[in-house]
Amino acid sequence: MAQNILHGIPISGGIAIGKLIYMQHQDMDELSTSYIPYSEISREQNRFAAAVAEAEQSFERALASLPDHLVNEGDVIYMHKMLCRDPKLIDNTNANIELKLLSAESALQRALEEIAREFAEIEDDFFRETVNDLHLVGERIMDKLTGKDPYNLKEGEPVILMARDLSPADTIELSLDNVLAMVTEDGGKTSHAGILARSMGIPAVVGVVGLGLTVRMGDTAIVDGLKGTILLNPTEEEKARYTESAQEYERYKEKISQKCLDVAETLDGHRVEVMANVGWVEEIPKATLAGAEGVGLYRTEYAFLNRTSMPTEAELFKEYSDAVQALEGKSVCFRTLDLGSDKQAPALEHQPEANPALGLRATRYCLRHPQLFRAQLRALLRACAGAHASLMFPLVADLTELRKIAHIVSEVRQELADQKEIFARDISMGVMVELPSTVILADALAEEIDFFSIGTNDLTQYTLGVDRANAQVSHLYQPLHPTVLHSIRRVVDVAHQSGIPVNVCGEMAADPYCLPVLLGMPVDTVSMSSQAIPGIKSLIRQLSLEECLELVRDLLKANTTSRVNRMVREFVYSKTKGEMAFHFSHLDGGYE
Ligand code: PEP
Ligand code: MG
Repeated sequence: MAQNILHGIPISGGIAIGKLIYMQHQDMDELSTSYIPYSEISREQNRFAAAVAEAEQSFERALASLPDHLVNEGDVIYMHKMLCRDPKLIDNTNANIELKLLSAESALQRALEEIAREFAEIEDDFFRETVNDLHLVGERIMDKLTGKDPYNLKEGEPVILMARDLSPADTIELSLDNVLAMVTEDGGKTSHAGILARSMGIPAVVGVVGLGLTVRMGDTAIVDGLKGTILLNPTEEEKARYTESAQEYERYKEKISQKCLDVAETLDGHRVEVMANVGWVEEIPKATLAGAEGVGLYRTEYAFLNRTSMPTEAELFKEYSDAVQALEGKSVCFRTLDLGSDKQAPALEHQPEANPALGLRATRYCLRHPQLFRAQLRALLRACAGAHASLMFPLVADLTELRKIAHIVSEVRQELADQKEIFARDISMGVMVELPSTVILADALAEEIDFFSIGTNDLTQYTLGVDRANAQVSHLYQPLHPTVLHSIRRVVDVAHQSGIPVNVCGEMAADPYCLPVLLGMPVDTVSMSSQAIPGIKSLIRQLSLEECLELVRDLLKANTTSRVNRMVREFVYSKTKGEMAFHFSHLDGGYE
């Protein structure tokens, strides 16, 4: 038996040992083209229609069996259900049956190829995602046409599930009690299957190159969802070692969840407010259960991404009011629309751009589309009346932009007052620090705002000139790069001199090796995805502010990232005795 280790992207923590089962939809390439006589056109079109209806029903069943805490993932399944009616998919397949006399299977296969070819020329993540989603839907329709059962699961036998890719509906439809871990050949850090796996607490590794070629059905494997490895056919000794690590991980999770609702205070008595990043109202209860003390970043653009019509002011008002209510008095910071770049709203106008990340996105997009911006501001200001709420603006480059925003906000306020609407008159307003220009102008900006919130995901991207979504340069995407550290330090110094607070809401806040650095800057609050909160609170309780301040003083003297990374690793290891190895870190994901 071959001993082998495969590597992928760790996407959901935990360790599992078990048999590998390949989940395979009907392979499109295996199908040979088949033709039908003229007399069978309507029979084939009816077979196709029946398969589409069956696929749609399977998405409906997946939606109905979705556990409450996974409501967000329901949006993607709903989108897949709606794609069963995609006119391109349906019309092209029917036309291929009628005009090219292809069987339903061949006609569908050809239609999917045609769609993929049409979109292949467009350099745009949104269209690529849509083609990918249509392919997943097409596979499901094909299974129904060919009568293939993709799951291969025997009742009651726990397995590690492998697949080229897993759609959210696949993931839900499986009997997850029997799935020990998930491993896929495709997919990146933000793949839907990965997000689901994390929400369900199943270890998962995605982007495993050569998975299909290397692995045989029934092989035993150990999946390490923290390191991103798959150990094939392990020895008894390896099994014993990993079983122990798996138990240790479970103990760690149990331990951090016990105190997640308590406030986080460092060993020397410094209280750190830990908040959640959310994109939907439905995430708020989950965030509160994980120990969030409020919402530090509400990504309002998410509600625009999964719909083909523009939300009305009334719908936005309802969403934001629901969020305020769900928080039961805890604070919320709404970020105005960060559309553009990789976040294209189907209902809105987005012109093709050569460099979308440097193009019309976020505040720039809002200033170009003032009607849209005003509608959102009206809804926000009304929903925030009497609430513990604030507003922040993404990707603000300089004072001119800030003043344009402030001017529009004051006009909207005046309009609401004239209309005798109830609204938040004195809401606190801040800007996100995501551009080097914002860092350099921080002192001037600080005079005109109430707080800064550092978006380290974009600040790293724009400071280092490295596309945050491009796997080719991911080794260069280094949040602990000395220039990023000096930028954060400058913003904190300037803000504190002006008497305003600094929050950090980028992924750095959720990273155990970056958190002590942020505390030592010292930033005032941190905000992160809910699942990271229990671990980060636990880490804060093992650190002392004094030592973090000293660490940062030393780090700021280092001039290479590898030196900084080494220093923070040693620091965190010495404070937590390796416990943070159980927590996700970008340092383990391919950084230098
Ligand atoms: C950031 O850039 O760090 C941030 C929080 O915003 P987003 O990830 O939504 O761009
Ligand atoms: Mg950002």
